[in-house]
Amino acid sequence: MKGKTKEYDIIINGGGMVGATLACLLAKSGRKVAVIEAYEAAKFSADSEYDLRVSAISRASQNALIKAGAWNDIIAMRASPYEAMDVWDEAGDGNVRFEAAELGEPDLGHIVENNVTQRAVTDALNKLDNADLICPAKMKSFVVDDESVTVTLENGKTISAQLLVGADGANSQVRELAGIDVKRDDYGQSGLVAVVKTEKSHEFTAWQRFQSTGPLAFLPLADGSSSIVWTLPSDRADYYLSLNKTDFKVALAEALDYKLGKIIKVGKRGAFPLRGSQATPYVKERIALVGDAAHTIHPLAGQGVNLGLKDAVELAGLIVNAKGDLGGMKLLRRYERARRGDNVITMRAMEGFRLLFGHSATSVKTARNFGMKMFNQIPVVKNEVIRKAMGL
Ligand SMILES: Cc1cc2nc3c(=O)[nH]c(=O)nc-3n(C[C@H](O)[C@H](O)[C@H](O)COP(=O)(O)OP(=O)(O)OC[C@H]3O[C@@H](n4cnc5c(N)ncnc54)[C@H](O)[C@@H]3O)c2cc1C
Repeated sequence: MKGKTKEYDIIINGGGMVGATLACLLAKSGRKVAVIEAYEAAKFSADSEYDLRVSAISRASQNALIKAGAWNDIIAMRASPYEAMDVWDEAGDGNVRFEAAELGEPDLGHIVENNVTQRAVTDALNKLDNADLICPAKMKSFVVDDESVTVTLENGKTISAQLLVGADGANSQVRELAGIDVKRDDYGQSGLVAVVKTEKSHEFTAWQRFQSTGPLAFLPLADGSSSIVWTLPSDRADYYLSLNKTDFKVALAEALDYKLGKIIKVGKRGAFPLRGSQATPYVKERIALVGDAAHTIHPLAGQGVNLGLKDAVELAGLIVNAKGDLGGMKLLRRYERARRGDNVITMRAMEGFRLLFGHSATSVKTARNFGMKMFNQIPVVKNEVIRKAMGL
């Protein structure tokens, strides 16, 4: 102890899905961790409405959450495995269908409400002796010196560690206070989200229809309803939010081309602005960024939290195996080298899809339709793509 300053190995600002998972991975391997989180995780009850924010948790993320000690609780609370993914284009009759059975897998992943994942990782963290969740709390400032980083909280208390991790989301405070630059691409689009009941069964399939305005995804939930993410130009999203429920249900069923029949019921609706971003660099002396603090991507392939959890696994692996300084540039540069490429490639791929499917020239539409049909008929290539998306 330095005076009244409590010492840790690592301080994580932000105990969201990525920050809390990272903390569990580190603490389970014997590192002493503090997590500063502004808000208490929501309580879960089985009869509560579905959270508007859900994520398609990949196999790689599932494995990370198993290691963190949170997966069993997620399954016990509420999660829906999906066994297939069907993607098609409003222009033409081509489609691409991915089937878990073709890969010899029980499912392609799980649709999990963000507040369920959050609850489970927070509970797992609270069980670990060498982790302190400081919540509700906020950081005020930090000072980096040769050997440590000292964080002052808004309540005046100080804590120190060898490394400060920013896992504090897209508007990261750590990133800003560290003076790390972030390049943002405002897509001018919003993701309209809602939970709906459809006339036909979702068949535990994730359905995604590309429209020139953006993709519309129906993600299967355990009780037979679906969570939708409808990417739209922001003014269109506002328009659909303003419709009464009857008109919205008709517009939504039409947008999915009645693939799941009529929309029987719609709950609360919300919209989130969509932005791509990359922090440059991800690391500085005694500072590292993970998850949305380091990068955000278009949600069209549902990879945002999956990339963040890969950051957490990579950084935890390097720290757990480190012999020397945990906040030195040697270790931190290795983390950045390991993760930036994957994050940037995934971001560019999502942007490429967005632009390709947003193109309305007839020649592009014809080529797109032909391409989808061809792609669907080459299982080796198709299965390789889905394996990559699953993080296998
Ligand atoms: C419409 C939409 C749909 C999406 N769908 C998917 C999907 O299907 N699959 C997928 O993988 N991803 C999806 N994403 C992306 C995904 O939600 C994010 O990538 C994920 O939430 C990032 O997790 P995180 O822990 O890095 O950040 P966050 O979830 O933003 O967590 C940050 C945490 O830090 C805390 N915090 C912030 N600032 C401070 C501070 N100053 N002090 C203390 N605490 C602080 C916050 O309270 C929060 O708990 C979607 C995104 C959108 C917008």
